[in-house]
Amino acid sequence: MSELPIYPMLIAGQPVLAATSFEVINPATAAPFARAAAGDASHVEAAVAAARAAFPAWAARSDTERSRLIGVLAEVLQANMPELMRLVTLETGKPVDGLNHVGAGMEVGGAIAWTQVTSQLDLPVEVIQDNAEARVEVHRKPLGVVASITPWNWPLMIAIWHIMPALRAGNTVVLKPSELTPVTTARFVELANAVLPPGVLNLVMGAAGSEVGPAMTIHPGIDKIVFTGSTATGRKIMGNAAATLKRLTLELGGNDAGIVLPDVEVKAVAPKLFAAAFHNNGQTCACLKRLYVHESIYEALCAELLALAQAVKVGDGLDPACQLGPIQNRMQLEKVEAIAEAARRQGGQFLCGGERLPGSGYFYAPTIVAGLDEGSQLVDEEQFGPILPVIRYVDVDEVVVRANRNSNGLGGSIWTRDLDRAAALALRLECGTVWVNEHGAVQPDAPFGGIKQSGLGVEFGRHGLAEFTSIQTIKMMKA
Ligand code: NAD
Repeated sequence: MSELPIYPMLIAGQPVLAATSFEVINPATAAPFARAAAGDASHVEAAVAAARAAFPAWAARSDTERSRLIGVLAEVLQANMPELMRLVTLETGKPVDGLNHVGAGMEVGGAIAWTQVTSQLDLPVEVIQDNAEARVEVHRKPLGVVASITPWNWPLMIAIWHIMPALRAGNTVVLKPSELTPVTTARFVELANAVLPPGVLNLVMGAAGSEVGPAMTIHPGIDKIVFTGSTATGRKIMGNAAATLKRLTLELGGNDAGIVLPDVEVKAVAPKLFAAAFHNNGQTCACLKRLYVHESIYEALCAELLALAQAVKVGDGLDPACQLGPIQNRMQLEKVEAIAEAARRQGGQFLCGGERLPGSGYFYAPTIVAGLDEGSQLVDEEQFGPILPVIRYVDVDEVVVRANRNSNGLGGSIWTRDLDRAAALALRLECGTVWVNEHGAVQPDAPFGGIKQSGLGVEFGRHGLAEFTSIQTIKMMKA
């Protein structure tokens, strides 16, 4: 019998083990470092029942009280930051600090920041009409039980993005982390349950291919699903949710284009572009995934990016000197290898990388590929790994059309010193967020979400909070 620690589920305020458990792998060593309870549909039943039972009292609490408790959760995260950071590194491979300070410290620090900001958000009653004849008010009411399903790339931060606005708005939650990264989330839910009433925040876990996720998406006791993950899974969830008309927020894949105009200072923008593409090994939804560079600076920028790729330190994330860790899981590593092979076949010129790095973990060399265009897999599909296509363009108007010719629409960026021109180009990009002279930086008070097949709805700020409510209009006739 394994001596690895087993992380339990948490239902109605109680830790729950299951008949079996599954291994959680450290991608830096490819060896297990923990186990997690392997739940099934019966645990989904129990968790939904607990969340439904807790809902009326939680929804009836004053806004001030819910805001206060969420503020306490931010303090709990802060107090446990070193432990949570270590768990993030062990299960995701993410370095403690990381390229451009995007690492485990940012994941836990971001979780704290989002919790603090969400605790202060509110959705006041809106008065549409108030005259001698009538008063019309618009109220925001909680939906009921929210199911949160999270991916492996930012497991704690994304769980926080889901949970906090759901709770703030008065809903109760059943949370299911990725089978690849359940540990930090399980530890956080345990800590949070010392603060929250039993049943308000429940955790179920399932092994790979388990029935837990699908059981949540069809359960009639769940009113809304907030999901972050691949577009393929998002489609399945939307299909399953149709029978009970669940509300949905879907944050799905992206294939963000960055467009570099000829007026930039190449040496100054190169490190920012490199970090935007390679932080967390490219495993962030809003990483820069297609880099379009004007022909007049193409060679110079490629040379700068190559130098940065050759200097970056890849290794075990627990080593504070490392800037990039391993790819998070074997399947993703193999997917990146397959995309690299396709890029080779399709005529891509590998400026660097294109191969695994030695060691037992899932390490892959940062890879830059020149000479490809749309029509190649690396350009058309989300790579979600450390391999970036740098694409040459001639005409700015034409490149906007090329960038838009993709089924994804999460983010995009324009790089130029001409901010007026950037603002005009930004409006022409078909994506949920456009950054100018940066890429991928999200913040807790500004809405973020994808259009086209990158998702449905937004997260963060008041717009994101509103997605965890339904509107009730009250019209009172005075005469
Ligand atoms: P995934 O879709 O494989 O898994 C995500 C979650 O869904 C996991 O918890 C998984 O167990 C669960 N799941 C799988 N099948 C299910 C089903 N049939 N019903 C219910 N749940 C199911 O995604 P992933 O590989 O973990 O994450 C990578 C993807 O996530 C990338 O495409 C990335 O772009 C995307 N992503 C998007 C955002 C965003 O905000 N738009 C953020 C992070 C990641």
